[in-house]
Order: sequence, then structure tokens, then C-alpha cells
Amino acid sequence: MAHNFDLVIIGGGILGTSLSFFLSHLNKSKQIAVIEQAKQVAFHTSGRNTGKVHAPYLYNPEKKKMFATAAFHGYEMWKKYSQINDLPFKEDGVIEVSKDKKGTKVLEKYLKWGKENGLNEDEIKLLDKSELKKLEPEIKCDSALCVYKDASTDYSILTKSLMDDSKQNGIKFLLDTKVTDIKNREGKWKITLNDEHEIFSNFIINAAGGESIDIAHRLGIAKNFTDVHFRGEYWKAPKEYFNLTKTSVYSVPEFPDYPFLDPHWIIRVDGTCEIGPNAVPVFSPYGYDRTENIKEFFPKMLEMIGSGARKAIFDKQFQELAINEIQSSMSKSSMVERVKRFLPKIDPEKITEKGTAGIRSSVINEKGKFVPDVILMEDSMSFHILNYNSPGATGALPFSAQIINQLNDKGLFRNEKSDSNCGPWKFSEIIEAISS
Ligand SMILES: Cc1cc2nc3c(=O)[nH]c(=O)nc-3n(C[C@H](O)[C@H](O)[C@H](O)COP(=O)(O)OP(=O)(O)OC[C@H]3O[C@@H](n4cnc5c(N)ncnc54)[C@H](O)[C@@H]3O)c2cc1C
Repeated sequence: MAHNFDLVIIGGGILGTSLSFFLSHLNKSKQIAVIEQAKQVAFHTSGRNTGKVHAPYLYNPEKKKMFATAAFHGYEMWKKYSQINDLPFKEDGVIEVSKDKKGTKVLEKYLKWGKENGLNEDEIKLLDKSELKKLEPEIKCDSALCVYKDASTDYSILTKSLMDDSKQNGIKFLLDTKVTDIKNREGKWKITLNDEHEIFSNFIINAAGGESIDIAHRLGIAKNFTDVHFRGEYWKAPKEYFNLTKTSVYSVPEFPDYPFLDPHWIIRVDGTCEIGPNAVPVFSPYGYDRTENIKEFFPKMLEMIGSGARKAIFDKQFQELAINEIQSSMSKSSMVERVKRFLPKIDPEKITEKGTAGIRSSVINEKGKFVPDVILMEDSMSFHILNYNSPGATGALPFSAQIINQLNDKGLFRNEKSDSNCGPWKFSEIIEAISS
């Protein structure tokens, strides 16, 4: 193993791996490593999500500008990358339904946001219930937003392919390797791996997902932020439901201010169907089971009580929502009932098998409020990507290109050729498209 690197990326999720993909094309002479504690890339949230390549209709163009722009460009980029590499990408659209007039007002707002974020008339349409009935007879609703520019994929497969491309271009992936300590030693980072080995790096990019806040804190950054984690659980539907609808169905979230999205009816890229995710508060970014949650309960509570999260967890509406979600975790039927409101044919008795759960980590500011957009922080030796949430997988490629461009502009890793090809794209063209 080389012990000295120009750059270390912490986190082999879809974000860290997308960053490595661009760096591997643009900065070939640099020594770069991606460090991932799991045995494979995309083992955590990036491989445990809904698998949708989302059109940016859910994102307020003012408050979630970065996510919306990245999602808009991400769609075309994943489509091209999947075609070239023969990876799964199904352009199957999505339907967002409202149950009542109040929800329809929200859909009207989503239609406006979708168009402001770049979708055209043919890509997003609001239908009334009789129009939708002709397309999807089993759905019960007041109205429906049909988003044609939405697709399904498997993000673990896409991430693995990006890793293979990056490795071919010289990036080192240290898997099964946890960053356990970081110290500044005379202008270089001394990074301890698995509590035993040491490597050195001039620069760190923190793309550590649910641990990114902890890593930032360790480097003295983002001290005014903390995070809370929510486990999103899925239930698998039996084969007899696979043709219930042609399209995945989402419903207008009841409490848009909180990251608790109502569960969806999901058609995965392989044609199987699932219900989920809910959002159960947990105490660790890896709180898939009770043992991990019990272990992390006290440290996390202490951290939350000493920070802005205290205001959120003592908020009455937050408590009610959390209790609802915990109930839907303990009782599968209460989660299925929420989908039954728009797909009445579903029988909770027939849904018996659990799917894979994924964990969402949301950042809270010192006022106790959830931060809506991604947070970027930096100093002269590190760059931190915090609160990188939905639709983070959709936007990972353009978002990463933008970050690398920003770092290159500062002269940190000067482009060897600014118009270099990065796989099927010219880097300068991606940047031009994102900036326009
Ligand atoms: C339930 C759910 C459904 C979602 N559905 C969608 C969807 O349909 N479409 C969409 O676009 N987005 C979706 N998202 C969002 C998307 O999955 C995330 O935005 C994206 O996966 C985040 O990627 P990441 O690389 O930042 O994080 P991660 O995938 O969490 O990767 C971070 C990596 O860092 C590693 N790491 C952390 N600390 C260390 C350390 N100390 N040492 C070594 N390694 C470390 C972790 O092991 C992890 O693998 C969903 C999210 C959730 C929770």
C-alpha cells in the first residue's frame, strides 16, 4: 500500500465513488484513494434506497437549488452511462397522487417547481381522477401528477461500475477499511485505518454519508450542526401484485417540513414491487438492528441534547410523527394501510416479507431546524459534503463534477486538460450544462 496520497476520499458510497470517477479522468498523475469501511462500495444508503432516478419536481427551486439542478442533469447522465455499460435503467415514470383537494394544491405547486427546475410540458402533467383512471384503474385519488422523466435503476450496480472505471484509471479503493482517527501533522493529514495502519494525505474529501458530520467535527468543522438518523424500511409485495399498476406511485407527504415521507408503491427495475420507506428514528447511521441502536443510544442522546437537535426532538409535532413512524415499523399493517389509501386492492395479510432497510441522516442546525439543502464546508486541507440526501443518488454524477470543478478552480488539483473526456462526457460540457 502506498502510504502517501495527494487526496483521500472518505466514503465509498455513490457520492465518493462518483467523485473518484471524475478525478480518475482529470487528475491522472495524482495519488488518490477512496476509503470505505464496508467490504463493498454502496453497501449502506447508496445500495439500500428506492432506486429511482428522480425528476426534480419535489424540490423547491429556491431552497433546494443544488439538489434540483443535480437531479435534472443526473437523469440524462445515468441514462447515457447505463446504455454504454449495459447497466439497468428503465424509463418507467412515476405518479404522485393526492387524496384530497388540499393535496391537489400541493401537486399544482410540484408541477410549477418541476417546470421551474427544467422539465417540459411533455415530461410532467397534472391529471384529474377520471383521466388517471383510464391509465391506472386501481389507483384511488383526487388528482395525479404524472412524471414521465423518471426512471428505475439499481444504484449498487452503477456505483460498482464507477469504481471499476476509477480503478482502471489508477484510483486505489481501500475496502473493509475504516478511518478511525485523523490528525493534522505538520501540514499533512495522518489518517489511522482500522485502529492500526497509518497513511498520510495532503487533502481529505469527506463523503462519509451518515458519518460525515462526525468526521467534520473531528476536523473542527461544522460544530454548529448535528444530525439525526431515520431508518427507512421496505416490505416486499407478492407476485400477484406485480401488475397492479404500470408505474410506481408516491403520495403527497402529509408533513413536508419533516423528512418523513409517506410510503410509496414501488416498482423496482427488476419488476418486483415493494412498499416503503417509512422513517423510524434510530441512533446510528448503521442502526439496522436493535443491538447497534442500543449501543449508540446514550452517546447519540448526549450529543443531541447538547446541540440544536434537542429543540427538534422536544417539538410536539416531531414527537407525534416519530411515534407514528415507530408504530408503522412495529406494525406492518399500519404501514401498508397508508398505501392502501391510494391502492385499495392491497391486502396487508399478503405482505409478509421484509425488504432491505436504508438509513437517511438529516442535518439539524443550531436552531433545531432541519437543513433543506446539501451543505458544503471547507478549509485549506479538507472539503466536506454534509446532508447529502434524496435525490442524492440521482444527482451524484453532475454534483460530483461540480465539486471537482470548484476544487480545481481553487488550484487544488489542477486539471491536466480542462476539456478532458470523462467516460462518455467532456468535463467542460458537463460544467457548462450545470452552470447554464
Ligand atoms: C430510504 C431511502 C430511499 C432513497 N431513495 C432514493 C431514490 O430513490 N433516488 C435517489 O436519487 N436517492 C434516494 N435516496 C438518497 C440516496 O440514497 C443518498 O442521497 C445517497 O445514497 C447518499 O450517498 P453517499 O455516498 O453520500 O452516502 P452513503 O451511501 O451512506 O456512503 C457513505 C459511505 O461512507 C462510508 N464511511 C462512513 N464513515 C466512514 C469511515 N470512518 N471510514 C470509512 N468509510 C466510512 C460508509 O460506510 C458509507 O458506505 C434515498 C435515501 C434513503 C435513506
